[in-house]
Amino acid sequence: MGFSEVQEYNDADIFVLNSCSVTSHSDSQSAYLLNRAKRENPLIKNILTGCVAQTVDLHKNFDVKNVDLILGNNEKLELKEHIEGLFEGKKGKKVGDIFNITKFNHKMVENPYQTRPSIKIQEGCNNRCSYCIIPYARGNSRSNGIENIISQIDLLAKSGTKEVVLTGIHIGQWGLEWGLELVDLLGEIEKTDILRYRLGSLYINEIDNKMLDFLMKSEKFCPHFHLSLQSLCDKTLLNMNRKYTSLEAIELIKVLYDSFEEPFLGCDIIAGFPSETEEDFKLTYNNLKALPLSYIHAFPYSIRENTPAAKMKNQVQDSVKTKRTQMLNELCKLKHGEFLERNKNKEQEILFERKSLKTGSYSAITRNYIKVFVKDKRDDLRNTVKVVNLRDFDKLY
Ligand code: SF4
Repeated sequence: MGFSEVQEYNDADIFVLNSCSVTSHSDSQSAYLLNRAKRENPLIKNILTGCVAQTVDLHKNFDVKNVDLILGNNEKLELKEHIEGLFEGKKGKKVGDIFNITKFNHKMVENPYQTRPSIKIQEGCNNRCSYCIIPYARGNSRSNGIENIISQIDLLAKSGTKEVVLTGIHIGQWGLEWGLELVDLLGEIEKTDILRYRLGSLYINEIDNKMLDFLMKSEKFCPHFHLSLQSLCDKTLLNMNRKYTSLEAIELIKVLYDSFEEPFLGCDIIAGFPSETEEDFKLTYNNLKALPLSYIHAFPYSIRENTPAAKMKNQVQDSVKTKRTQMLNELCKLKHGEFLERNKNKEQEILFERKSLKTGSYSAITRNYIKVFVKDKRDDLRNTVKVVNLRDFDKLY
């Protein structure tokens, strides 16, 4: 349409905010950015899209006075069509019922900026965890077709990409509409020319024996698991409406650890879920401590309006949530340090990413998700792979 990207609010006619609503903090950040844009340039037209836009009616406290156009998650894909009229001073809102969207909207990416581009293979989620607003923002699960995904990977591989990351809201639900499973897609990816691929977050009981067997034999899979765990206390898991027990999760983590050479085993944990007592938290904490995890992404439970958990009694005080999150962050430092120590003096295949002009070092990434720094005089190593010995590490956390 003749627009170009600019860096300053003052130079911009339109500000598009593709928002996240996963926690109340991300909502506040959206409000802050929209207000700042208007403050710095009162003539700017603010477009709010993404998950805050899709669920704006659920957020009673979200102030839309500085928003000129609200576009839902499906409508944002046709942004161009909706921009007309914006400069005639009309405010607008186009947010359809996300649960009516049953088809995946595929967009081909031709020139990715990143060395490890993400390929969105799936959207939405059929589960209803009691704390989660995502299904209301993204709708039910729908999958990108195998042909689209393979053409995208072929295109990227042809233009020199070595690694792709398969992402989605709930990638374990990929293929449900056709009676297919994620492992069927991975089987097809195995036949492409891409050198390696990584998986986004996985739900515990979707890594079954068939999947595990496949991943163990795969030449392209990077042994990096991000597990959507949330708790290791059965009472809390039940309150969260998660569909597995702590024992199943613990067993799976042990099996994954034994099945791969030093896999990266990361997990998400919510601290201070309603009714989580000190004892419940300690149970989760001690279970995590006993496991060979590499990383714990801990965050305090955040009330999302209109979800069942928001209405639960026994909400945990903010100060307690903060304390528990800090304890988990400390545990994460310990676990990550142990993981790096176990990898010391091991050979790993790395993918070169960026070179720092200041230090002359490249940052690179191993298959098991360790960030590595390599000093090298050459300037053309970006996007190449090499096997190196991991000599030493800094405790970054
Ligand atoms: S599985 Fe994940 S995306 Fe789906 S409802 Fe639960 S937390 Fe939300």
